[in-house]
Amino acid sequence: MSTLSTPARSSPASPTPQPHASDRINVNRSFTCRCGHPVFFRNSICLACMAPLGYDPQRGVLIPLSPLPDEAGDTELWQSAEPSQHEGRYARCRNLNSAAACNWLIPLGDATSVEQDLCLCCRLTRRLPDLGIASNAVWWGRIETAKRRMLSSMLGMHLPVVPLADDPQQGLAFDILTSTNGMPVITGHENGVITLDAQEADDPTRELRRTQLLEPYRTLLGHLRHEAGHYYWHRLVEHTEWLPAFRLEFGDEREDYRGALQRHYAQGPRTDWSLHHVSAYASCHPWEDWAETWANYLHMTDTLDTAQSFGIDGERLELTYEPFTAEAFDDTGADSAEFLRLLNQWMQLTGVLNELSRSMGVPDFYPFVLSAPAVRKLHLVHRIIDAADARWNAGEGYMA
Ligand SMILES: [Zn+2]
Ligand SMILES: [Zn+2]
Ligand SMILES: [Zn+2]
Repeated sequence: MSTLSTPARSSPASPTPQPHASDRINVNRSFTCRCGHPVFFRNSICLACMAPLGYDPQRGVLIPLSPLPDEAGDTELWQSAEPSQHEGRYARCRNLNSAAACNWLIPLGDATSVEQDLCLCCRLTRRLPDLGIASNAVWWGRIETAKRRMLSSMLGMHLPVVPLADDPQQGLAFDILTSTNGMPVITGHENGVITLDAQEADDPTRELRRTQLLEPYRTLLGHLRHEAGHYYWHRLVEHTEWLPAFRLEFGDEREDYRGALQRHYAQGPRTDWSLHHVSAYASCHPWEDWAETWANYLHMTDTLDTAQSFGIDGERLELTYEPFTAEAFDDTGADSAEFLRLLNQWMQLTGVLNELSRSMGVPDFYPFVLSAPAVRKLHLVHRIIDAADARWNAGEGYMA
């Protein structure tokens, strides 16, 4: 498993054969209904046989459901329509029949009554805009769709996902807000609370901001992953043995944060940002560099998980590609071979996906160029997530 040594820059890359990359799928994205038709992560009903579907976030599976006799008297309970494959009883999330259209399940375990009527993902949402305003409800739905996607990856990696209401010290919450009285909502993270400007779910608004800020990529999922990166920095890096390695790659986060942001917005990014960072914004402060790199790592892993779930393997694409080597990004430290395999699969896959985008006349699928220092930072994110996963696998617990 990951060790905590800083990169040993002269040792050779491990020649040990690695497990096939598909062994490392964190979240499966390909599901089949009991009728044999393909169904997808966001589906709540099979359009072929009309079976209700629900996503079990603990097991990471989309399950065709059949109703159970109502024991509690007021809540409908469900079990898998194929109980031999998935045991257990479930309640459906209260937000199923709302603008959020939440298809997540509440696993009941041994409980005899339903204590929660919201799923784990919906329980994390602490504040909402006025849903009586039609556009707010639409935006909320889009944000929750992106949030379920992001959290399924976090759970698949066994990262801690605990509502702030359950753990006021270390938990996580989302405030989805719209501006009131002309006061803009500042998207950001503070003390476990991720605030998101709901208007980012309005496509013209988000696109206008993207072009004004000269960003190649701006999405709800990207926002959520970035802000989650700030949250997990506090959980996984601050006050841990990873802090020296973080400072070595990303810089010293004790640098004046507000001053750095003001300078960034007043003067623009460093002109040489692309030689060191995954994005221009990442160059303004080590914390933003971490959040941008974390988001990029999750773009990589979720997309590779999805590709592999459907049998698309970046290593078998017909693309002549010169792979990254450990020497090329000056990082031959612990477990670099496994990371290199992930990275090179990603470069192969996105090389083809970008060309497919051009065939459709839409913006590039992955509009980023990775410099050697940015790759080293991605590797550190990989190692830190791996170590958290290992702690969970060792039985130390993490998941709600
Ligand atoms: Zn079906
Ligand atoms: Zn829900
Ligand atoms: Zn940030």
